[in-house]
This record gives sequence, structure tokens and C-alpha cells, in this order.
Amino acid sequence: MHILVLNAGSSSIKAAVVEAGTGERIFELGADRLLDRGGHRKALHPFLLELKDKAGGLDIAGIGHRVVHGGAEFDGATRITDEVEQKIEALSDLAPLHNPINLAGIRLARELWPELPQFAVFDTAFHHSLPKRAQTYALPKDLIREYGIRRYGFHGMSHKYVAGRAATFLKDDYRNLRIISCHLGNGCSVAAIEFGRSIETSMGMTPLEGLVMGTRSGDIDPGIPAYLHQKTGMNTEEIDALLNRDSGLKGLSGAGNDMRGILERSTQGDPDCQLAVQVYTHRLRKYIGAYAAVMGGVDAIVFTGGIGENSSIIRHRAAQRLDYLGAVIDEDRNHTLQLSETEDVIAFSRSHSRVKLLAIRTDEQLAIARDCAKLLRHEDEVNTRPAIPIAISARHCHLTRATLDKLYGEGHELTVKKWLSQPGQFAAEESVTVVGPRNRIERVRILGPLRSVDQVEISRTDEFFLGIDAPVRESGKVDNTPGCQLLGPAGSADLEDGVICAWRHIHMTPEDAAQFGVKDRDVVEVAVSTNERGLIFGNVLIRVNPDYKLEMHIDTDEGNAAEIQSGDAGVIDVTDSLATLRKRATVA
Ligand code: ADP
Repeated sequence: MHILVLNAGSSSIKAAVVEAGTGERIFELGADRLLDRGGHRKALHPFLLELKDKAGGLDIAGIGHRVVHGGAEFDGATRITDEVEQKIEALSDLAPLHNPINLAGIRLARELWPELPQFAVFDTAFHHSLPKRAQTYALPKDLIREYGIRRYGFHGMSHKYVAGRAATFLKDDYRNLRIISCHLGNGCSVAAIEFGRSIETSMGMTPLEGLVMGTRSGDIDPGIPAYLHQKTGMNTEEIDALLNRDSGLKGLSGAGNDMRGILERSTQGDPDCQLAVQVYTHRLRKYIGAYAAVMGGVDAIVFTGGIGENSSIIRHRAAQRLDYLGAVIDEDRNHTLQLSETEDVIAFSRSHSRVKLLAIRTDEQLAIARDCAKLLRHEDEVNTRPAIPIAISARHCHLTRATLDKLYGEGHELTVKKWLSQPGQFAAEESVTVVGPRNRIERVRILGPLRSVDQVEISRTDEFFLGIDAPVRESGKVDNTPGCQLLGPAGSADLEDGVICAWRHIHMTPEDAAQFGVKDRDVVEVAVSTNERGLIFGNVLIRVNPDYKLEMHIDTDEGNAAEIQSGDAGVIDVTDSLATLRKRATVA
């Protein structure tokens, strides 16, 4: 399927016709943009006319536009309608340098190719999964809400693309991996991708935050702009321009924003260029360490973008002495590696290194083309019928033989109190007391049968009460989660890990999955509309197994939010409420 990918940026404009399956470029056209006096439209018009002329004979299925800011609204690529266009326009306040020109490109393309479907693919969408704690700036809460001030993150297509390539290269599912992706081009950002989802990234509300970049400062003390204003009299626009266009490598080195030139001069002894390189890589190392801490470990660290793909010196400076993380660099390999079309992923860690260091060629055009092709093939769509029963899952635990022995005595067998809807699963008569640093919760039901790992599933409210910071995880994924103490009639057990906030999910059989048009571990949107406070749950995990029974599981907090009444006070109560699937995320 051929997609015309259009990237109308503030300094250049690029277009390509991409075969979405193979990544082959059928046609490419690029131009530097004359900084426009006559507005974006005027600047783009000749380019698009030339494009239409030259790409005229090609069979094109749709047009994909790179749009920088998708705000809180867009969590994935979307077909452009009048409504979508208005929303992109409304987001221009958040990205005044980018969205207006993207929008001009969209409007012109709609005029020139009225017969083709048009899609918007957002730089921010992949980071839609950032948890609240990573999104939020510590500013007054009313102000944040009123003006949409939060971290959105950028370079999403690149981070998503290289995470997918890394997983394929490592012969693993990206949903099993924790990846730190360093996109180092003119703009630079790092993302922490935990089990396929971006959970932290260095760019914020605008692309100015985070790493040192070609011309952007990245992180600075937020007190500096006020200080600069006092000392120099610069106004806000001037300070903004200073931080976006005259800082970073360019500002520090005084030798332009091109890393090649700066490295060259630093080798020749230029102290300003040497410092620029040091500040650049120091910041990058800081973020890598921080993101390993955020994810409680890392499986692969990826370097991409013009600098990440080509500069062995920057990779060396960023990735040496990471042995404490389990990442051991192979210096020779790093210095000699050469990425190419045929070899677009190369590992440069030593063979015994637990964490893989990878240089990967990014391909944002292909990522855009793929997202569009998926939408054209309706891969985001699901069958909204039949309705799915909803069960509310109260706090509970799954135990191992060893833990049950400690709590209830050697060889104790669980007594079935009530069979649950998932075949073979039961609520036991037995319960435990969960002890956290702040409080304890008594009578937490044990679910049988026994399992190979201990797992305690609690709600967000429980977390704060207990004083335990538990991550949202799918059942069974308990690596690097916090532990707690359990008390039973015969003794206590200290769990090193296993406390999670269960990722809301839907159990279904392969037949159900085929009917809904989804696959195991897809992430979907679900509408609950059976009462006044009906709502849409995003980020719902699909779990497919022949032994399952169709049912959506949410926790008590989530049930309360949707005012879903639970019948009896058991552990997993099937309710009267029903859910319907709305759409499927088109990730990966
Ligand atoms: P953009 O973000 O505009 O897409 P790129 O990803 O092409 O930019 O990255 C541009 C940066 O990559 C520039 O700073 C350039 O100097 C740097 N770069 C390209 N090749 C090399 C190289 N061999 N060594 C060091 N830096 C390089």
C-alpha cells in the first residue's frame, strides 16, 4: 500500500511516497522552506504543486501528515475530518511553531487531492500512556487544568519505531521489554518504554525540555528566564527564541549546531566545543540512569537519530561505565559499526551484557506510512457487539505453596468459598492481612488455585492507605514491583515483590477475539454506557485464552468512577453493567 507522507516543518519540508509494507521509497521530494513572509500557505503551495505534478502517476492510497502536537486529545493516528482539523487548530496554542504549518499542509493537500483520505500522525501520541505522575508539573493545580499545562512528549513515531525494531532484533515481543530509547538528532529526547508503553520522556509541554539539543537548551533552572529578563531586559519572545534557537550545542560551542563540526573542533582542542560535548553527554547519561530507575531496570538501550546512529564518540561517552545497570559496551564494535539499509540494527554491547546496547536507524516516514495503512485497513476498528459483562474485582491475592505454608501452616489446603466465573478459579474461605508501611488491611481474600508467584492486587486508594507505590501491571508481571508483609493465623510472610494495581482487562476466548476483531494483548477503548455516569475506559488490555470466559475486570476504584453497582461483597463480582469495545490502539 503506497502512502504519501508529508512532513511540513518550520525549517524544511519533506515528502515521500512510501510502500507501507516494505518501507521502500517510491518517490521523494524535499525543500528548505523560505521563512515565509506571505504565511505558511504561500510557502507550501509551490512545493505541493510540484509534488502533485511529479507524483501524479503513482497509485497512492492515502496521505499521512506529521502533526507535532496532538495534545491530550489524540492517542494515535487518526483520519482527518473537519472536526479533527479544528482540534489540531485549537492545539496551535501549545505548539505555535509547528501546528499552524502542519495544518496549512493538511488544508492544501485536501484541496489538491480531494479524492484521497488524509491522516494525521502525531509526535505526541505515543506518549499518551505517560502516567499522571510523569505528566504533571508541580504548579498550582487550577492553573494546570485551565491551560493544559503538562508534559506531552515528542518524537513519538521514532521512539515507537525503534522500540519495535529493537524487539524484533532481540527476537522478543516489545511488550515484554523495558527499553530506553535515545533519539539524538537536531532535536533530542529520551523515552522510557516499559512493556511497549511510553511511561516517561524528556521533552515536556513543548520540545524545549530535557536533553541538550542542536539549538535548544533543554533543562535549565526555571528561574533563569526571570533573571535574564531582569538583567538584560529581554522580553518573553526574545527569551523563548534564545532558548529555542540560540542555545544548546550552538550556544555552548559558538560553532553552529552540527554535532560533526563540534566533535571535529573538540578533537582539535577547542575548549568551548569540548565543554559542549561534555554537557551534552552528561545530560544524556543522567537521563539514562534516571529512566532505568523509573522502570526498575532496563533490557535494551537504543541510540538513534543522526547523532545516535552515526557518532560512536557520543555513544561511547553516554554508554560507558553502565556496568552497574548490566550494560557493558563493546568499544570495538561501537567504533566500527556502520548502519545501513540492510543492517539497520546493530548491537554494540559485549555478548555477556545483560542489557543490550543497540544502534538503530530510525524511520519516521515509514512509521507514519504504517500507521496510515493500519487505519486504511481498519485495523483500529473492532466489532462493538456483543456486549461484555463487567465484573468488579476487589482487592485480593494469589499465593504460592510456600507462602500459604507460612501463613496457614505446612500443607494447608484452600477451602472453596465460591467458584468464580473464570473456570477453575475460586475465592477461598481463607484471607490474609496485608501490612504496608502506613496501615494494614484485614481480610484480603485469597483466590485459588495456588500459583507459581505471589501477587497482591490492590486499588489506588488501597495503595495510599497502605503506603505502597504499586505499578499498574498485567497479572503475572511482578518483576520490580514492591512487596509487603502478609499475616495469617499460623505466621507471616514477607513478600519481596508482587504488589500491583491490576491493569484493567477483558478475558475472552479465541472465538470471542475473532468475533471482536482483536488479538491477545491488544489495548482497546471500552465504553460503559449502562447508567448515567457511563464513561469510556481507555487502556484496557485484551487477554485471550481458550479457558477464559468473556468478562471485563475492573477494580473497585474504577467501578466507583462508573457507578457500577456490585451485587454482593465478594471478590470478583459480576455486575449488571455491560461494556462495548470502541476501538483498538494501532500501536506497533
Ligand atoms: P533531524 O532531527 O533534523 O532529523 P538528524 O536526525 O538528521 O536531524 O540529526 C542531525 C544531527 O546528526 C546533526 O547534529 C549532525 O551533525 C549529526 N550527525 C550526523 N552524522 C553524524 C556523524 N557521523 N557524527 C556525529 N554527528 C552526526
